[in-house]
Amino acid sequence: MRYISTRGQAPALSFEEVVLTGMASDGGLYVPEQIPQLSREDLQAMAGLSYAEIAFRVMQPFVNGEIDDETFRGIVRDAYATFSHDAVVPLNQLDANHFLLELFHGPTLAFKDVALQLLGRILDHFLAKRGERAVIMGATSGDTGSAAIEGCRHCDNLDIFILHPHKRVSEVQRRQMTSVLADNVFNIAIEGNFDDAQAMVKASFANQGFLNGTRLVAVNSINWARIMAQIVYYVAAGVALGAPHRQVSFCVPSANFGNIFAGYMAYRMGLPVKQFIIATNANDILHRTIAANDFSKQELKATLAPSMDIVVSSNFERLLFEAYERDGHAVAALLERFQSEPTALAEAPLERLRALFVSHSVDDATILEVIREAHHRTKELLDPHTATGYRAAERARADAETPMITLATAHPAKFAEAVVKAGFPGVPLPPHMDDLLEREERYTVLPAELAKVQAFVAQNRR
Ligand SMILES: *Cc1c(COP(=O)(O)O)cnc(C)c1O
Repeated sequence: MRYISTRGQAPALSFEEVVLTGMASDGGLYVPEQIPQLSREDLQAMAGLSYAEIAFRVMQPFVNGEIDDETFRGIVRDAYATFSHDAVVPLNQLDANHFLLELFHGPTLAFKDVALQLLGRILDHFLAKRGERAVIMGATSGDTGSAAIEGCRHCDNLDIFILHPHKRVSEVQRRQMTSVLADNVFNIAIEGNFDDAQAMVKASFANQGFLNGTRLVAVNSINWARIMAQIVYYVAAGVALGAPHRQVSFCVPSANFGNIFAGYMAYRMGLPVKQFIIATNANDILHRTIAANDFSKQELKATLAPSMDIVVSSNFERLLFEAYERDGHAVAALLERFQSEPTALAEAPLERLRALFVSHSVDDATILEVIREAHHRTKELLDPHTATGYRAAERARADAETPMITLATAHPAKFAEAVVKAGFPGVPLPPHMDDLLEREERYTVLPAELAKVQAFVAQNRR
């Protein structure tokens, strides 16, 4: 199994290389050259297996023997032992045929743990094998940073530096990062905004000389291993609800499109899926593209579902590559045009997408209404991201017979502000986190100056 770029120019890579590399050298994203297939028998045989065992079976072909089976099984088992629910990602039935797939039982209470618990361990394994160390740098406005830190805190060969804008992330989100006191975890509070932090991380990747040859690794959502890890829960949920004997549908609160693209991969591997619903907040580029063929950037809007606040959906490129029948030149041309002007998809690729995907956009007022309505009808308290999915599933589903699985991407306690705005008294943190606000914190405040940040990273890496 080799991995190829969505823009058709960069060299093909092995699994190990692709995990250690971020973007392809031609500006594209890596995807597997062939999509492994799960037969009806393979799916049937997964019924009743543990999540970790299903995960091993789904991911093993992508790993391609580059980690031996026994070691990989151990990595998968350790990654998902960090989840507080024995089912890892339990299905919660809301009504006759609508289910929530709860992806928020990991260490930071959001679905990004599913991928990052695995990615940290895979990186550590490959680095140990090569006798190398690496530095992870990332910028966060709150969410991804803590999941990356939790995924790397036990990794001997990785040092992680996460930049967040000083005094501009919520207390819960800051403490989820800064209360991890491991020797290889460094939180940097930048005296600036998120864009300043992100610009410094980008500049560091573009020019890595300050690290004297140590590899810099990105764990953002374009890393293939994150997609791979997310394929698993689509398969597990589909099998739990009757695949391969019946179809299921999924509704996914979406931003960078990594999560729902993993669902599409599960479909291409053989999971019978009737429909994928893309739910967005007011940052609706995905909805405008699918519903109106308006593939254009619009200004960023701050919403009640902040982890879905994006201008561009980076992983959508991977779906475009499939819609354009893997024509890397066509994808490159489309995305170059998109960078500078509003554009549109060609007709045939758009029709291919519309055969499987529909979309729905949910504004802030509706998010609050949905949190109240869902609680009234089902007694479930939804976080604001999941609320976009709940509404989109109700409005855009093709039929009532096919089971609808809405992905619950965060625990409501993580986004209590929206829940309080919807009229609820607040949401307690789950028991294993209820002392978060008393835990010791450690972070370093630095000015938004590239040289100072890079000097700090160079001096503190182990
Ligand atoms: C990251 C995130 C999303 C969006 O996922 P994508 O893979 O970027 O589409 C949705 N909800 C929550 C809570 C998130 O953290």
